[in-house]
Formats: sequence, structure tokens, C-alpha cells
Amino acid sequence: MFYIKKLPEREKNPETCCASVKKGKEYINPWPSATPREASKEVKGIESLFMEYIKNAFRSKEKNQKLKVELDLKAINDYAEDDKNIALQLTWLGHAAFLLQINTFTILFDPFLSIRASPVSFAGPYRCRGRGFKSFSELPPIDFVIISHNHYDHLDKYTIKEIFADERNKKRTHILCPLDLKKWFKGIGIPEDQVTECDWWDENEVTIIPESVNVSDETALNEALTSSSNRKITICTVPNQHFSGRSTNDRNQTLWAGWVIKSQDCSYYFAGDTGYRSLPDICPEEEIDNYPYCPVFKQIGNIHGPFDIASIPVGPVLPPHMMSSVHTTARDAVDLHIDCKSKHSVAMHWGTIENLGIDDIESGPAELREALDKKSIPHDEFHDVYIGQTIKIEKKN
Ligand SMILES: [Zn+2]
Repeated sequence: MFYIKKLPEREKNPETCCASVKKGKEYINPWPSATPREASKEVKGIESLFMEYIKNAFRSKEKNQKLKVELDLKAINDYAEDDKNIALQLTWLGHAAFLLQINTFTILFDPFLSIRASPVSFAGPYRCRGRGFKSFSELPPIDFVIISHNHYDHLDKYTIKEIFADERNKKRTHILCPLDLKKWFKGIGIPEDQVTECDWWDENEVTIIPESVNVSDETALNEALTSSSNRKITICTVPNQHFSGRSTNDRNQTLWAGWVIKSQDCSYYFAGDTGYRSLPDICPEEEIDNYPYCPVFKQIGNIHGPFDIASIPVGPVLPPHMMSSVHTTARDAVDLHIDCKSKHSVAMHWGTIENLGIDDIESGPAELREALDKKSIPHDEFHDVYIGQTIKIEKKN
């Protein structure tokens, strides 16, 4: 069984470890980098793109099927049995969904694995890529589901129910989510004791201990925790710049976050859904650096970095006055990769959902390579993967 122990709180400081801020009922992004911008009247063609967006909302388009979706189920299931040489294994399931296998734990991030990222089934952003498996019975049991925020493309009721419908997961899977999201899980029938809400900078140490241990016996528990030290990870909640809401009356009432997972061998950073720098619609390249950037990624790098691997979002970004405060351009993603001290990053939040924004579903990787070139960063340091691709990081010795 898992034993989850909350570690002592870090001292908060806006410069080094900034606290989450709630004003009235709403959480806010406490940085100038999140300042909203006015729409520019000089940008032509936006109206027709929005009209196209509204028309597409009622379609379920199937285009650009060139990405293959082939899950390496053997690698995923073999890892569960024998992790001797692999420190970490990360599989992209499309959009922001990742399967992380680390130190015998199987963790699923932001699993939107159904069809519509929408409150209704007949309209809304449409997942036009497969996921590479039919049923959760093909995957190892899921130990943790970790959620960045409650937008439909990250928190999907159908996938959560599907996970818990698998007998192996029903009593096992534990959900970690940002503050004030527990009631949503309760509302769909997930037992309260299988959900833990976390604030920015919370750290939870999770250890696998034998079922026979009586956790109310402190000595027995401490003994079990010490002898299971190689079956331990630390799950840390970290800030990002975004917003939340699933309907017209719950905007920002639940928190948003990124996550860090550390084992004795390696570390992973999941940036979640985030902006980096709010920009006006028209902004020449040489003026971008005059606008403030979100300071938390350097804080995350200083406190938890460097990371062996990170998942960083790229887009959608149009139009900038709406999207730049909550999503990252390729240029932002590269800056974020540097700020958080990631040794190796993979792009997410692209190539999966039709009509998530007005950007083309394929935009992301080409822009990313261009942004890397401008900073002379090799393409293999931050790259796109195909849906279903598994990346393995070997143990150092
Ligand atoms: Zn979002």
C-alpha cells in the first residue's frame, strides 16, 4: 500500500517561492506577466478565423492523420515488472496526457483520452488522434492520477471514470489535484480518501509499504518507511500561470499547478497548462523581452531543478492578446526550458485536439525548432514526440 507523508512547508517569498493568492472566491496569477492585453484593431482576418472556429465546433474533423499512434505496450508493461536499469520511462498519450513510470510507480498526468474536451458531447474541441490502447486493462495499474487544472482538455470525466472502472484501479488509484478540486471528484463518485488537494510548493513523499504494517503504530511505520526507501518518490506541486473553470460561474475558483516528481535516481517536471509572458497582438521580435516574464519557472529550477526530463506546452497561441497570458509560444517554451533548468524537454499541448484554438493542429514543432535555433540549443535537447512514443532514461550506474 502507499503511505503519503506531507513534508514540512517551505517558507514563502514572492521572489524565491511565491505563494498562491486567492482574492475573494478567485485564485489569481500574482505577476505582471499575466496582465491581460487589448485586442489590436490592426490585425486582419481574426474574425474569419473565429467564424471558422465556431463552424468547426460542431464537426468532428479527421485530418492530418500522419502522426502514428502506436503504444509500446510491451515496454510499458515490462517496466512494471522489472525496472532494474531504467530510472524513468515517459510515454506521451497526446495533448497533455503522459504516462510516467518511475521507481515502480505508474502515474498518469492530465488524462484527456476521450473524444470531446467540452461540457457537451455534440460540440467543442475534438480529439482527432487515437490513444494507442483500447482499455485500461492493457496498461499496468495506475497508482496516481495527477491533474494540473480543471479545463476539459486536462480533466476529463469520462477518462477518470474509465480508470476507476478497472477493478485493479478502483481502490488503488489516488488522485492529486490543485486546491478546491476535491469536490469535483467527490461529485463523480471518487472516494474522498483517494483524493489529495495540494497548494503550490506542497511536497508529498509517497512510499510503498507492506499491507501488514499498522500505520497507527509509529515505530512500525517508521521501520517500514526506512526499509522501503528504494520504493519512494516525492511529488511536488509547483506554480504556473493559467486559469480555471468548467462553466460560466466557476472561473478561477479552483487552483492550477505544475508538478515535479523525484526519485533517488532522477527527476521529472510537468509544466501543466501555462503562459510565460503576456503580449499584445502586434509585437516586433526585438520588443518581446521588454515585457515581463513569469518568474516562477526560475524559482522551480532553483528549488527542484535541474530536471532529467520535462514536459513543456507549446501553443495554441492565437490571437496573442487572448492566449499569450495563459499559453506558451515556442519562444516562451524555450525560455521556460532554460529557466526551469531542464536537461531534456518534450513538447506537449499540440497535435491532438482539433479546434482547441484557432491555430493549426500541427503548429508547434516547426516553430519550436526555429526558436531553438535562435538560442543555439540543439534540437535533441527539446523536441516533439509522436503520440504513443516512450522515452527511457537509464540509471546512471
Ligand atoms: Zn487550460
